[in-house]
Amino acid sequence: KRVEVPQSVHGIDPTLVDRRAVDVVRTLKEAGHEAYIVGGAVRDLLLGLHPKDFDVATNATPEQVKALFRRAFIIGKRFRIVHVVYGRGREHEVIEVSTFRAYLDNAAAEQVAGNERTSKSALAGMKHAVDASGRVLRDNVWGPQEEDAVRRDFTINAMYYDPERQIVVDYHGGIKDAQKKTLRMIGDPATRYREDPVRIIRAVRFAAKLSAVGFALDPKTAAPLVQSQALLADVPQSRLFDEMLKLLQTGHAIATIAQLRKLGLAHGIYPLLDVVVERADAAFVHAALADTDRRVAESKAVAPSFLLACVLWSDVHDGWNQRLAQGQHTIPALHEAIDSVFDARIGDVSGRGKLAADMREIWVMQPRFDKRAGSTPHGLVQQPRFRAGFDFLRLRADVGEVEESLAAWWQDFQEADDARREDLIAQAR
Ligand code: ATP
Ligand code: MG
Repeated sequence: KRVEVPQSVHGIDPTLVDRRAVDVVRTLKEAGHEAYIVGGAVRDLLLGLHPKDFDVATNATPEQVKALFRRAFIIGKRFRIVHVVYGRGREHEVIEVSTFRAYLDNAAAEQVAGNERTSKSALAGMKHAVDASGRVLRDNVWGPQEEDAVRRDFTINAMYYDPERQIVVDYHGGIKDAQKKTLRMIGDPATRYREDPVRIIRAVRFAAKLSAVGFALDPKTAAPLVQSQALLADVPQSRLFDEMLKLLQTGHAIATIAQLRKLGLAHGIYPLLDVVVERADAAFVHAALADTDRRVAESKAVAPSFLLACVLWSDVHDGWNQRLAQGQHTIPALHEAIDSVFDARIGDVSGRGKLAADMREIWVMQPRFDKRAGSTPHGLVQQPRFRAGFDFLRLRADVGEVEESLAAWWQDFQEADDARREDLIAQAR
């Protein structure tokens, strides 16, 4: 049932709404389409949190959307959306515009895929991207707003906000659940986890994020999580890896670990995540997780390479020491230890090459911090990745793995002018 909730009830502060999102909605409406701010932004506005980005949903097709904006790009294949770009360079902002999609349960999706095999023309009227796989079809079949709402995951993620009329369109009692601080899956939770097992991980992510504002998972939404976990075996590793990073890098890593343990999901979502949960109480890993949360809260950048370098450091360290004990030279021993850690711990994920290179750089820099003589320090601070390597050293000092004075020395050195740097090198002798 479609409910239009007025400002007096939802209480969204219109000044918190991104003006570019408002602009996108206005442009679409002026062209005769329906358009709303949707999803996470509406949820966060409603809860008085700062949305990290603003998505727009419309009944216009991607082609129609693209035609209305100067800089707009259709992206994605499995899930075609339009990126409308405002501003340039570091200041640029992207508003993601998606077309209302139909909700097809698995049976309907398979039927569409079956029709596809027998008769392409039967589908000609359906306005979808033609592809043989049920999933692709399912995700690109346009539908009315009502169906777009049903196919979303949680009731609080399925609301639409019209910034001009200042109303929230709510089909699934999202407003009520927001008031009750309940995270509830739309429909039958077990079925929805089967349709897309990534929703299991999303349940953990939102439970962690929203626990800070008093939310809890609805018991019926939480109950099938453990039994559904095995379904994750069918999800591509790269998608699981991305979801893991969202758990750890969106500012709620510590809360996520607590939720995973509480929900009985401490093991089995993704191998590397198992390692993180196991080590989350170890001083160094805990410091890295807490540091990541702090950085996100301060709107600073976080890199997966840094966090994962922290999580796997004890493996590298152990492997390195073993090889040193066998008489290998320092640097080759370190590189070999790193190679074997990558093989054991990092699966075949997209961007592994770059990720691994960045992690290696952080690790390989660590022995170089001991060399505080000659030209070595000057060369080191000049490296593009110096900051990451130093932050890593800083955390090691924080937990007592290296002398505090070493981290302090490098802190001074990077800030010093040339004369002071010579003094520091002289002092270090
Ligand atoms: P965040 O603030 O972390 O970005 P979000 O709610 O915006 O949270 P997104 O992953 O950006 O989350 O997805 C946007 C919206 O798309 C969600 O609010 C939800 O309505 C819908 N959605 C995303 N992934 C799924 C999914 N796997 N199943 C159902 N709906 C989904
Ligand atoms: Mg989002």
